[in-house]
Amino acid sequence: MLSQCIFSVKTPVGPPVEIIRHTFASQSPEPTKRVSLLAGLHGDELEGLYICHRLMQILKNLEEQDASAFKGEINIYPAVNPQALETGTRLWPFFSTDINRTFGKTNTGSLPDETSRTLLEDLKSNSDLVVDIHSSNLHLMELPQIRIIKNFEKKLLPLAKLCNVDLIWVHPHAEIFESTLGYNLNQAQIPTLVIETGICLRINKNHCAQIVLGLLNLLRQTGALDTDEPQVNIAEPRVVQPEGVTMIQAGDAGLFIKQAEVGQRVTEGEKMGDLIDPIAGQVLEEIRSPCSGLLFTLREHPLTAKGAPLARIATEESA
Ligand SMILES: [Zn+2]
Repeated sequence: MLSQCIFSVKTPVGPPVEIIRHTFASQSPEPTKRVSLLAGLHGDELEGLYICHRLMQILKNLEEQDASAFKGEINIYPAVNPQALETGTRLWPFFSTDINRTFGKTNTGSLPDETSRTLLEDLKSNSDLVVDIHSSNLHLMELPQIRIIKNFEKKLLPLAKLCNVDLIWVHPHAEIFESTLGYNLNQAQIPTLVIETGICLRINKNHCAQIVLGLLNLLRQTGALDTDEPQVNIAEPRVVQPEGVTMIQAGDAGLFIKQAEVGQRVTEGEKMGDLIDPIAGQVLEEIRSPCSGLLFTLREHPLTAKGAPLARIATEESA
């Protein structure tokens, strides 16, 4: 494994912070695909860092035992927004910038813009396929899923199915996506999968292990890695189109007391929790599922404003 600093940021008083790329080089005279995995674009999303850590352990081990397994090149960028990671915040501190909204824009010369430009160029010159790993925000727990923008569905769907996620959610195009890393790489003809799993500031080891197996499968199926271990049975994920997703929102402000878990199949009318007014000692609303399907998003943060999302269900018909 070769480790390189691709970008170094000076800090006012401490040592510089660096973005590191680890490369497992191809050992084949005819190298196959170059696959890049990255995490930590948002500094409070830690599951991707752990997934990269587990993958690096497995790949380092494999490199020692059978380097010839590396038919293609594998690049891992475990922490691409170190300044935000240091503070555990989604945004780049000081500038309060969401770095995943700065890609493909005219460069203003600001530090976050310079960072995203360097990262995008480095990924473009070193990848035939990219996986960008995210977690949810502090409010919602997400089942391991891949989100695909409709325009890229044809190319990305077969690749996404290899990743051992529970769900693939196809989104209609929206202008907001145009400044994301995933959109810009896909526009540049580099297929890029965006994984969304768990919740920020936490690590769900089971979800992470599931995705690690999926990524190893992806590396194998795309020819980057030639190894039989570990054996993985990849379950067919549920693919949902926008009309196949039912969102449940709070009808009132209160505390949401959940009574279900993501990954659960719910039936129409099944209770998923209560919305309570703890001051008055009242149950404001019993939250019941309006349909049968797979519960893939659930509110984890109890403080709820009126209209806030409580749950998302992949409805049965879309299976
Ligand atoms: Zn994110």
